[in-house]
Amino acid sequence: MSATSACRVCGGRVSQFADFGRQPLSDAFVLPGEIGQEFFYDLAAGLCESCTMVQLMAEVPRERMFHHDYPYLSAGSAVMRAHFMKLAKCLLVTELTGPDPFVVEIGCNDGTMLRVIADAGVRHLGVEPSGGVAERAREQGVRVRTDFFEAATAADILATDGPADVIYAANTLCHIPYIDSILTGVRTLLAPEGVFVFEDPYLADILERTSFDQIYDEHFFFFTATSVRAMARGAGLELVDVERLPVHGGEVRYTLARQGTRTPTPAVAELIAAEAVARVADLAVLRAFGARVAAIAEDLTSLLTRLRAEGRRVAGYGATAKSATVLNYCGIGPDLVPFVCDSTPAKQGRLTPGAHLPVVPPDAFSDPYPDYALLFAWNHAEEIMDKERAFREKGGKWILYVPEVRVV
Ligand SMILES: [Zn+2]
Repeated sequence: MSATSACRVCGGRVSQFADFGRQPLSDAFVLPGEIGQEFFYDLAAGLCESCTMVQLMAEVPRERMFHHDYPYLSAGSAVMRAHFMKLAKCLLVTELTGPDPFVVEIGCNDGTMLRVIADAGVRHLGVEPSGGVAERAREQGVRVRTDFFEAATAADILATDGPADVIYAANTLCHIPYIDSILTGVRTLLAPEGVFVFEDPYLADILERTSFDQIYDEHFFFFTATSVRAMARGAGLELVDVERLPVHGGEVRYTLARQGTRTPTPAVAELIAAEAVARVADLAVLRAFGARVAAIAEDLTSLLTRLRAEGRRVAGYGATAKSATVLNYCGIGPDLVPFVCDSTPAKQGRLTPGAHLPVVPPDAFSDPYPDYALLFAWNHAEEIMDKERAFREKGGKWILYVPEVRVV
């Protein structure tokens, strides 16, 4: 594993620490007739030895990922709906109190957060490249520009709407390899006293939980407070607050402001100190993570192979983007997991990317219940297990693989 690449943040040397082999696009659910025409790329992650940013070794062209039919909807989970509504309400009372405030959300998805802002009568704009979800946001009364956010977009928005008091991005910034253009755009569009708030999966949580399925085409960067502070400084901004979030298997919400406009909260220094203790920027620690991932893959395939030999019925639960990494890295096909249930209509009747597990509607799960269910949406485990209480009551068992393979 001596592969290197150039850091997308600082240009420094990125050293590879985990290799997931050839992978399909995580949302490329194919029709049975489309097998053989899929796009594959090499998925591997590395550490920048200069600025400590963890990132993929190679990027996938963005138009291949965030196209018209992008299937993920923020409103799909009740927990996430509540999360975004709480944040919107918080912004309304903390940051949007001046005269005629203006909010921009990068990657507003279906408008779950901005709808609360819109309902409060506050000026806003969502920038969303995926036409299908952007249309959903418009139906919610949210103002949307179907576009990628970058330097030129920001200049255009500034000319039309004036500076933004808050620029927000949830599970979006980590998707974007051309982050220099985003940060230039933020610096252009942000009001002098404004804040840029973004939240994304937290590398320290991924390492601690060995949640390797967070690594897929759409997640290009894996942030820490240490790497975000370095990135912000390089862009003339300052990391002024951090907040750990329990969603999506562990995230951090970072708040950036123009240099010298706000005093960083103690939480910033505390998190950076904790990251030093956890050695999140140590190549040896990251390579040990890679070794643990390989062990999980072996345990999971052995378990599924044994269950098949015993004649047990195993179903997949939740055809998430994350499941692509697990299925393809472990080599799990329909011979081991004959189908996966998912509530997204656009995925039903199709096959999962690369691994080709048929996706069926959720009612197939109980008709009849399988003996075991492999839970891909483990970040929503509590919500799902509660909803599917009857499955366990009838003797069904869940298979989880983060932080290790276990049956519950
Ligand atoms: Zn770097």
